Amino acid sequence: MTCGHLAAAAAGCDTAFTIDASRVTFGSGALGEVGDRARSYGIRRVALFTDPRIRALPWFAEVAHALAAAGVDAAVFDAVAVEPTDVSFDDAARFARDAKVDGYLSLGGGSVIDTCKAANLLATYPAPLRAYVNAPAGDGAPVPGALAPHLACPTTSGTGSEVTGIAIFDWLALGAKTGIASARLRPSEAIVDPRTTRTLPAAVVAASGMDVLCHALESYTARPYALRAAPASPAARPMSQGANPWSDLGCREAIRLAHAYLARAVADATDTEARTQIMWAATLAGIAFGNAGVHAPHAMAYAVAGRVRDFAPAGYPAESAPLVPHGMAVSVNAPAVFRAFATFQPARHLEAAALLGAETRGAAAGDAGELLAQAIIALSRANGIPNGLAGVGYGEADIGALVAGTLPQQRLLANAPCVVDAACLGALFHAALTYG
Ligand SMILES: [Zn+2]
Repeated sequence: MTCGHLAAAAAGCDTAFTIDASRVTFGSGALGEVGDRARSYGIRRVALFTDPRIRALPWFAEVAHALAAAGVDAAVFDAVAVEPTDVSFDDAARFARDAKVDGYLSLGGGSVIDTCKAANLLATYPAPLRAYVNAPAGDGAPVPGALAPHLACPTTSGTGSEVTGIAIFDWLALGAKTGIASARLRPSEAIVDPRTTRTLPAAVVAASGMDVLCHALESYTARPYALRAAPASPAARPMSQGANPWSDLGCREAIRLAHAYLARAVADATDTEARTQIMWAATLAGIAFGNAGVHAPHAMAYAVAGRVRDFAPAGYPAESAPLVPHGMAVSVNAPAVFRAFATFQPARHLEAAALLGAETRGAAAGDAGELLAQAIIALSRANGIPNGLAGVGYGEADIGALVAGTLPQQRLLANAPCVVDAACLGALFHAALTYG
């Protein structure tokens, strides 16, 4: 393994961290509050973003009714792409500009919420999308000012997009996933109603639940904020600022909840307690990674999802194949990464293993990586996640391409607790092929 130690904290490193706390309303029935909430932000006409599947569910009718009851006019955009692209972001922005709205509401998974963020940005401060996209793929221009109010209502217990300032899309010309990251993209308020998870298929709860776990594990083991070079100005401190005491709080609880409730939530759609707790874990992990940042498993996942050949996940609609769902693409890498990286932060990896139910009494620092890897493997198996990269269709011969597809994700790789280069990534992908 060639993953290397970070330089120790020194002059020039950051000495403070920033808490961007999201306003969150959480609980059964919260969707019924959207009309009142929209009025409280002064919204008269809202752009309501969703997708065709959600539009057919009772949650859409409930939101539309609540808006109408509050006298808020809604312009509906339901053509959100399953995997947003630069083209679909531009389409959404055009809709928002033409609709002449003064606020935004998203009802759906991460794709819907991210599309709504991009539409709000591009309609409020018109510019080519590339201007705002993270450098080096885009120009990385700062968002000029506040956006219109955005109420985000997640219907999956996974991405945490409702509490983060990140919007991810496929840049078709580059053949790569990239995104926009700015605290100004963070929705004004997340309205999280765990009833929406009743209509989620088990396979979706499993994959998105593993995504939640990885958000928490990666944020908890990210490079500590005080080992990151200080920003040029305080306002330039990145959202991916590294592990800090605020993000640690949400991470620990999200890991504990994933251990306690994920298998139950997957097994039984009527287990309201378990599905509610996993929705809460998703919210906590989203707040945590929105303030700390994820690292190698997510960076590697972009290549794993992007280079899919013929994998068709069980429990997903046949027409969506080939597809490696995001949570699956992340979690197949996770045991290999944490097994390798534990040596750089053994105490944190050991604590995470304990929160996942591993017996860690009497364990030595050198055991931390194996204990955490085994705990993740056990949870993956219990929830039907394929065994490693081989389980989603990759072999030894693909490793070079997967490394090449991961290296551009420098925003995430720089957030790892160690130096990650091409040789390090090659060893990680090799170790992630199958788990014994
Ligand atoms: Zn994720």
